[in-house]
Amino acid sequence: MATNKKNTHKTNKPDVEENIDAALVQREYFRNLSLNILSERFFRVRELFLRLTVNTPQALLIEGGTSLERLGAALFLGALLNCEADKQVDSVSPLLLVNPEPSTEKIEKPCCKCNACKLFMCGEHRDLILLDGRFESIKIEAVRDLRNSLGTRPNNASKRIVIFSEAHNLVDMAGQALLKTLEEPKTHTLFILCTSQRERLLPTLVSRSWVITLPWQHPHGESESVLLSENIDESLSSEIELKKIKELEQAFINMIGEDTNYVNLNTPSWLQLSSQKGYFDKYLGLAFVSHCRRELCLALGLGDLSLNQNIEQEAKHKPKKLSLLAALLSVLDKQFLLDVSVCLDEAESDLTYGLNPSLVMDCFATKLFLTKRNLY
Ligand SMILES: [Zn+2]
Repeated sequence: MATNKKNTHKTNKPDVEENIDAALVQREYFRNLSLNILSERFFRVRELFLRLTVNTPQALLIEGGTSLERLGAALFLGALLNCEADKQVDSVSPLLLVNPEPSTEKIEKPCCKCNACKLFMCGEHRDLILLDGRFESIKIEAVRDLRNSLGTRPNNASKRIVIFSEAHNLVDMAGQALLKTLEEPKTHTLFILCTSQRERLLPTLVSRSWVITLPWQHPHGESESVLLSENIDESLSSEIELKKIKELEQAFINMIGEDTNYVNLNTPSWLQLSSQKGYFDKYLGLAFVSHCRRELCLALGLGDLSLNQNIEQEAKHKPKKLSLLAALLSVLDKQFLLDVSVCLDEAESDLTYGLNPSLVMDCFATKLFLTKRNLY
C-alpha cells in the first residue's frame, strides 16, 4: 500500500500493542474494520455500495458512524469494486463447455476470499492509497505527491482507491489541491473522503462527491458494532449505561448551557459524576460520544439518519421531540458546534487508543466549557 508515511507512522499516541509487530496489528485491525461492514447494521450501506459498482462516481463522501466504521466502509468498498470472484469463474470456463448449462449461482461481491479482496481489506493492496488524517492533519505535500502517482494506470486493480480518512483534517491548502485533482477526470480512480459530517469539508468538495451516510450508533448496546460488542463488559447492563448517559447529558448541558433554561443545577455536576471510582470506562465514554454526535446531527437538522431503522419503527418514533441536548445545541453558534464535533473526534480516538477514559472525558467536557466561555 502506498501509505503516506508522514501521516501514519509519526504519531504521539501511546502504542498499546507495542509488543506486537505493528504491521501485523494494522493488518488484522483493518481486516476487522472491513468485515464489520458485513454486519446487519450496514445492510442498507452494502446495497448502496452495490449500486456504485454499476456507476462508480469519481468521488464518494462517507459520513456518519464512527471514524473506524467510515474507514472500514471505505476499505470494504475498495474490495467490492476490485473483487476478482467472477474472473475466477471465467478461468474455469473450458469446463463449462463440457457442461453447457451455465452456472446460475449469483456471485456475491466482495467474496472476501480472492487476492484483491484480501489485500484491500487488510489495507495492503498496491493500488490503495490511504491519507490518514486520524492522528495528524493531511498536508498539502501529501496531496501533491498523490497527484504525481495518479498519472499512471493502476497496477493490477480495475479501480485505484484513494482514501482520505478523516478528510476534515486536510489543511486548507491541501483541500484546495485536492479540489484541483478532482477537477481532472481520472477514470481509473475513486476518491473516498471520510468525515463525521459533510459540513466539515469545503462545500466545493462536497458538491463534487456522492454522499453515503452510515448509521449512527445508539447509546444502548442493541445496534453497537460487532467490533465493540465483543468487548463490552457484560456486567454493565444497557439500562445502567442509559441512566449514566442521561445524567452525563444533563451535567454536560450544565457546563455548556450557561444562561439558558436547559440548565438544571439540582443535578450532579460532571466532576461529581466522573470522580466516582470506576464511573467511566472505555465503552461508556464511546457510548456518550456517539450519543452526543447523534444529538449534534439532530441539532444541525440532519435528522436521525440511522439507516437500519425500518419504516415501521420510524413511524412509531414520529413525531420526535428534540432531546434537551439537541435543543440546546440547536441554539448555540455554529462555530461552537464545530468545536464540539472536533472534540468528539478527539475523545473517540483517545478512547479507542486506550487512554484513561476518565481523563479523556473530563478533558472533553472541560475543553468545551472553556471554549464556550472564550477562555480556551
Ligand atoms: Zn473477492
